[in-house]
Amino acid sequence: MGTSHDTGPLYKMALEQFGKAADLMGLDPNIRRYLERPQRSLIVEFPVVMDDGRVEMFVGYRVQHNTVRGPAKGGIRYHPNVTLDEVQTLAFWMTWKCAVMNLPFGGGKGGVKVNPRELSPTELERLSRRYFSEIQMMIGPNRDIPAPDVNTNAQVMAWYMDTYSMNVGYSVLGVVTGKPVDLGGSRGRDEATGRGVKVCTEEALKTFGMDPTRSTVAIQGFGNVGSHSARIISKELGAKVVAVSDVTGGVYDPSGLDIDDLIRYRDENNGVIKGYPKGERITNEELLTMDVDILIPAALENAIDESIARDVKAKIIIEGANGPVTTEAEKILLEKGVMIVPDILANAGGVTVSYFEWVQDLQSFFWDTSQIRKELERMMREAFYDVFKIKEKYETDMRTAAYILAIGRVAEALRMRGIYPR
Ligand code: NAD
Repeated sequence: MGTSHDTGPLYKMALEQFGKAADLMGLDPNIRRYLERPQRSLIVEFPVVMDDGRVEMFVGYRVQHNTVRGPAKGGIRYHPNVTLDEVQTLAFWMTWKCAVMNLPFGGGKGGVKVNPRELSPTELERLSRRYFSEIQMMIGPNRDIPAPDVNTNAQVMAWYMDTYSMNVGYSVLGVVTGKPVDLGGSRGRDEATGRGVKVCTEEALKTFGMDPTRSTVAIQGFGNVGSHSARIISKELGAKVVAVSDVTGGVYDPSGLDIDDLIRYRDENNGVIKGYPKGERITNEELLTMDVDILIPAALENAIDESIARDVKAKIIIEGANGPVTTEAEKILLEKGVMIVPDILANAGGVTVSYFEWVQDLQSFFWDTSQIRKELERMMREAFYDVFKIKEKYETDMRTAAYILAIGRVAEALRMRGIYPR
């Protein structure tokens, strides 16, 4: 009877994850049909005047998967491979991530198909402002609150906030999160996802009875998530980060890498670690299959596929990135007894501090770093054990348990609200 828009392959993979949990928890089929679909998907094609006077057209998206528990929340990505399928899937994951953390948000995501490294700073600014104006009909502090994601940062958020404020005629701090601290941003937002990854690493190690100071870690991706995870895990847990990589390849040192030094090198070398003079050069594949205790994929989706999964030696995978393990790879890993702490839990630190930022903006009252860290770590630990308890109860894996927790919360909100109109 009903019809639906054809979603793509990544969305289908996410639906398989969802379906496994929905089956196990016996989700009402009416609620299931509703929650499987992305509610609103906007495609915008817009002009940008380049520095040489040429006009180039760009395509962008904003998707709200579900807003039953509150306004949509989710980052905006700039990447040449951005598609509607990717953005719809990322929005879908945001619904469950916010619900796992018990935040009063639904799931959203946005993206522009562009390689920002090919743009000058002024072109990037014009593109950001025009894209945000184009999607403004869906955006607002009570409606949909974007944040940074791959290749977007505090500066881009400041342009978004200014563009929205200029268009409505007054300053609206709470319209995006991940802003600079001097512009209504939150302390601790930059490192938040990495800090959440650290909490999950610490708790996962505890469940195996493993000592962090005797553990080794490999991290794929050395951007916001990867580099902060590396820094906080090595400094605060005392674990040895022996390998990191980015789009240009990786570096390995069995005695442990100096993460501050690597971050400094990256910042002085166009944002990449290529040419780092210390340690041994390795490929991304070598990093993913390295003999370490903990593997943290923190780059992009589908990094660990079937062929890599067969050679993975880590006991614990903490998904810093969204969707880094394919469904087929996950089956192989679970059979090998690997614990996968799923994206919707492992990288939820970012959206949690985004939530703190939004609350601070609405109240115009700002917290200090220690309060942010304390609240974030408390909420991450609570979420980890909420999920872990469900994993034990249903005798299932961590991802399915996280979905069961999240779906239960969204389904309950939906039951209370009902389907409009009746
Ligand atoms: P970023 O742009 O800061 O960094 C991405 C990193 O991945 C870079 O080091 C880049 O070189 C590397 N990379 C890209 N392609 C690669 C490849 N093929 N092989 C190896 N490395 C590659 O992005 P980010 O914000 O750190 O996001 C990384 C992942 O984490 C994404 O999946 C994102 O959705 C997710 N995430 C980010 C946040 C956040 O707060 N920034 C929160 C939750 C989830």
